[in-house]
Amino acid sequence: MKLNGQGCYRIKKWVFWVMVLLFITLITMAGQKEKIREKWLHSQKRVEISFEGEKSELKDISTCYLCGLNNESLMGVFQGSDDIGIISLLDWYIVELRLDSYKDSKGSQITYTNTGGTFYSTGGSPSRGMANAEIMLPDTYKLDMNFLAEHLCQKCLDKITESLRYSKWEYEEKKVIPLCIVDFQTLEIYSLQDYHAGCMVRDYWINMEHEENEIRVEAFYVPERI
Ligand SMILES: [Zn+2]
Repeated sequence: MKLNGQGCYRIKKWVFWVMVLLFITLITMAGQKEKIREKWLHSQKRVEISFEGEKSELKDISTCYLCGLNNESLMGVFQGSDDIGIISLLDWYIVELRLDSYKDSKGSQITYTNTGGTFYSTGGSPSRGMANAEIMLPDTYKLDMNFLAEHLCQKCLDKITESLRYSKWEYEEKKVIPLCIVDFQTLEIYSLQDYHAGCMVRDYWINMEHEENEIRVEAFYVPERI
């Protein structure tokens, strides 16, 4: 590289072209980085993450957040009703999918709630047996197993932890979805992890969609034809 009479640097032609080629390669690689990482991730094995085997620390099982009576849990209000709910396991907030309240409400209703960074919107037409909910989880969250072990009896803790099983690529940064579906009538728990697209809960079909931190649930009343 030399300085010529006009104050410009001169470089050899081949050096110039090598630099251009390097520049193009770098730009292309930056653009492809995500794709390359994704391809690499998907070349690893799948691993299953399980939370089963947790031991309940609840002394008085009549205060279980799911099957018992506890002023800190809304379950007492819903237990035995014909509706379906979604439980946030981060703070035990319960979202009601209003399917059975058609007797006292016609038309559609929408509600919005925000608890500790989790945003909920629910809606539906109870008279048509349809309900939906959208849940936006915070960007960062951590499921606290101790919190669940302290407030659930062993039977309920087993049901909840079983619903939390999920799979991921070995080096994928994927967390468990801290939500589950609950049937208020039977107190059965259904998984909302992202490998499920739907499930049948008694006469209700529950549709599930997952997109990053957003989970959409739709419920339809579909009784069997006799
Ligand atoms: Zn229980």
